[in-house]
Amino acid sequence: MVREDYEAIIGLEIHVELSTESKMFCSCSARSFGAKPNTFTCPVCLGMPGVLPVINRRAVEDAILVAISLNCSIPEFCQFHRKNYFYPDMPKNYQISQYDYPLGVKGWVEIEVGDQRKKVGIARVHMEEDTGKLIHIGESGRISEADYSLVDFNRAGIPLIEIVTEPVLRTPEEAKEFMKTLRNILLCLGVSDCNMEEGSLRCDANVSVRKKGETSLGVKTEIKNLNSFKALQRGLEYEIERQIKLLESGESVTQETRHFDADRNITTALRTKEEAHDYRYFPDPDLVPLEISSEWVERLRANLPELPQERKKRFQREYGLGSLEAKLLTEEKAWADYFEEVHRLFPQPKIIANWMLTELAALLNQSGLKIDQSAFTPRHLADLLKLLDKKVISGKLAKIIIEESFERGVLPSIIVEEKGLVQISDEVELRKLVEQVIAENPQAVADYKRGKKQAVGYLVGQVMKLTQGKANPQIVVRLLEERLKLS
Ligand code: ADP
Ligand code: ZN
Ligand code: MG
Repeated sequence: MVREDYEAIIGLEIHVELSTESKMFCSCSARSFGAKPNTFTCPVCLGMPGVLPVINRRAVEDAILVAISLNCSIPEFCQFHRKNYFYPDMPKNYQISQYDYPLGVKGWVEIEVGDQRKKVGIARVHMEEDTGKLIHIGESGRISEADYSLVDFNRAGIPLIEIVTEPVLRTPEEAKEFMKTLRNILLCLGVSDCNMEEGSLRCDANVSVRKKGETSLGVKTEIKNLNSFKALQRGLEYEIERQIKLLESGESVTQETRHFDADRNITTALRTKEEAHDYRYFPDPDLVPLEISSEWVERLRANLPELPQERKKRFQREYGLGSLEAKLLTEEKAWADYFEEVHRLFPQPKIIANWMLTELAALLNQSGLKIDQSAFTPRHLADLLKLLDKKVISGKLAKIIIEESFERGVLPSIIVEEKGLVQISDEVELRKLVEQVIAENPQAVADYKRGKKQAVGYLVGQVMKLTQGKANPQIVVRLLEERLKLS
């Protein structure tokens, strides 16, 4: 197979569950994840005859925040449509969604893959309601092998936004990076918890392949409900290979919806793709069109938090950090906040970045804690770095102390006091130790005098041993050299 002759075209459709208090069109609580089935419902979200939906203002504002953060324009006219289809998780037999008048259009998001930057076009951002959840009873939990299915309507009517990209992503890595960048923006806005395992961030990936140099798009397939970054990447990798193989053997790709099987790392056909006209979209007669005034949009824009990429640029500018350091520190809001809090207490950005991205990152990784859950707060790191800066402790000791402080949540300066770990920089004391080591190690002294300068290293080691690592090594080296030159 000549894989290099082909390129992939990928477009993503992402569903985000908003974390509003109430549902999209009724006053039921939207915080029902994990609750007893069918306890968060009312006649509206159960689709009883005669009920009337009322638009959740907060959900609309959250959606506008997302749309402007993705650089979309917000048309003044915005309308809800009914998307008609039958499925047992949807009591009305239609979903209230948006069709030709979505909330936001024509935006873009910049991603970085390696040292490449790329603007990913956003075709649209629209609002809709979530469906209920089917639980398939049977060993595998799959519908095809179930004895029967149960339905839980707690999720029905939770506000969703759908974000659709242009078909401009080229590799599974780019698709994954886009999802990560998008997730960080959404988390920064605080509009969703973006928990992929719990389904509050879900991704469908559309993909086609074509021979390099071709300009028209090939037939695509859509992989449904990829619920992790890994699934997204693996699913796409598999699907790209599968399509190339088909084309290479003279067959063609069928436009269809496919399922990614994470256990087997393959995709399987679900159903042939439905077309928009199958849904019989029409404006929902129960809902008035929304007029989104530019004043409303501007008011929301004025309260937008600093988004990750702007913050990254500011970190480079204001703190003189490198591009990668700044990126790593600003992808997650909690990390960037942590950094800035340490910086307020100990204004040496390079040193803070270093310690956060190496020692602290490793400790967080081992413990599985998030940075804002750890008992090792910005105050702890600033305290440690001050001790180091004043040479109260050595770098080596600092690495030991950070572990203990992280573990116990006790400030580094208190640990240093408790254990008498203060670095010995007192020259009178150190000179005594230097004399002792010289007396006890005549061989090393003789080696030094014969020109073997590395012998100093051995002698420094002996002083460190006598002080359990507490001697200030720079001073010890200087004292030893002075003393050896004299003798
Ligand atoms: P559909 O009508 O099948 O839902 P859309 O035009 O609405 O298709 O696009 C859905 C998603 O599929 C978008 O993210 C879009 O970028 C992507 N897409 C469209 N055509 C292709 C293609 N030929 N190959 C890969 N992705 C595509
Ligand atoms: Zn309800
Ligand atoms: Mg579509």
